Amino acid sequence: MSLVVVGSMAFDAIETPFGKSDKIIGGAGTYIAWCASNYTPVKQISVVGGDFPQSELDDLAARNVNLEGVQIKKDEKTFFWSGRYHMDMNSRDTLDTQLNVLENFQPVVPESYQDCEFLMLGNLVPAVQRSVIEQLRTRPKLIVMDTMNFWMEIAMDELKKTLAMVDVLMVNDSEARQLSGDYSLVRAAATIMKMGPKYVIIKKGEHGALLFHADKVFFAPALPLEEVFDPTGAGDTFAGGFIGHLAKTKDISFENMKTAIIIGSAMASFCVEKFGTQRLKEVTKQEVDQRLSEFVQLVNFDITLN
Ligand code: AMP
Repeated sequence: MSLVVVGSMAFDAIETPFGKSDKIIGGAGTYIAWCASNYTPVKQISVVGGDFPQSELDDLAARNVNLEGVQIKKDEKTFFWSGRYHMDMNSRDTLDTQLNVLENFQPVVPESYQDCEFLMLGNLVPAVQRSVIEQLRTRPKLIVMDTMNFWMEIAMDELKKTLAMVDVLMVNDSEARQLSGDYSLVRAAATIMKMGPKYVIIKKGEHGALLFHADKVFFAPALPLEEVFDPTGAGDTFAGGFIGHLAKTKDISFENMKTAIIIGSAMASFCVEKFGTQRLKEVTKQEVDQRLSEFVQLVNFDITLN
């Protein structure tokens, strides 16, 4: 039984008010794989061009990320995304999206991935996400989907078709509002749950994340950090920690999802400390455990109700 991850593998160019990156390795699938592989082996589905460094693929393979489902289009260019963060480091503008190899990407699920029990649909063309679900002969125990405003703008109908087939949707607050047409996040989650997913996770950047299920709600804070260097990939890293923990423990109860959200939040807090995937590549188990205990302290309090 396994975790299958679908998502973009990319070149990114990032600008923040404090610095600018060259063309660096990014992509939702890349961040998810780096993070989830701390918890469980990953079977990756994606596409890159001939310009994608082999060394990056080798690094992932060395982390127990199976790349059989990653297509390499030798004569084409890797997906490119560029973004600029505002002063609050929470909101950003997309400066450029060059789909390149993603434009005509047709994922092929390898036979060895058919044992998929947990499926993480990272941010990608909604029809591609759906194609992976449809190629799996046995429905996974849990399907989690991430998406973004870009797809809501150009492929809303396709997105809704995919949404109807998943268990958990992860979006940020502005995307939840855009998808539901409602300003209230509580009502937005309720509207989205009517579209298919039984669980909705709404990420609020430095203000944490909310998990909704039926009439239950759980809130996880984000760790207050002195310095945020580059928030890119934080959402994907969060997704990787969330699904990685669930796949490792094989427990999809609401209670375990709460733990998974804290793990995702802790991993995301590392991601933002350096540009790109750099911090995720070097983080140790000891550092992760230390940060998890900081989370426990952050939300731990006593109260006496008379
Ligand atoms: P996040 O900061 O978690 O929202 O994710 C940022 C990552 O998403 C970047 O590394 C980008 O390469 C990737 N990305 C941005 N736009 C898209 C898109 N339209 N489709 C797939 N991946 C994207």
